[in-house]
Amino acid sequence: MRQPLKMKLWNDFKKLQYDENGFRSFVDYYLLLANWVRCNIRLFDASIIESLGITPLIDIDPSEYVVENPGISLEMEQIRMFSDRPKTVNLLIMRISETLWYLVTINSNKGCPICVHDDLKYLIAENKLSKERRLILECDSCGYVEFSDGTSWNGEIVDIFPVNKNELVEYGVKL
Ligand SMILES: [Zn+2]
Repeated sequence: MRQPLKMKLWNDFKKLQYDENGFRSFVDYYLLLANWVRCNIRLFDASIIESLGITPLIDIDPSEYVVENPGISLEMEQIRMFSDRPKTVNLLIMRISETLWYLVTINSNKGCPICVHDDLKYLIAENKLSKERRLILECDSCGYVEFSDGTSWNGEIVDIFPVNKNELVEYGVKL
């Protein structure tokens, strides 16, 4: 859906900027964005919702998943997120989902072998057919992916889920 973003929807989203509680903590900011997406999800194309992994992203308990230091500033977010109206509905949901992923994704502090300046992030990849879940490391700059045991990515078709600290420990990661 390359639908233009109508002023009505943009104005509704922009009201979040003045939410009194929405920028107190990263958990509050997560809830602010995730609740808005949940209320408006029917307005977005199902295929982009799936490709951005929105459903598992807004379905988690933020107290268990939101990271302590996602590398963004809430003060800046209150301006950045609501400046420059995106041209299309898709660009709006991409902006929101990118930020939600930042809020819940744990950095491995292992550099990406391709872009070097960026670190790999932990995620769970669930095979669409077998439902087997494996821990992966992904670079959100270039899309490089490897399994956490160091084996190369095999191109299987997966759904992506966030992973929290407790789950990482269960996968044998030493934090
Ligand atoms: Zn990279």
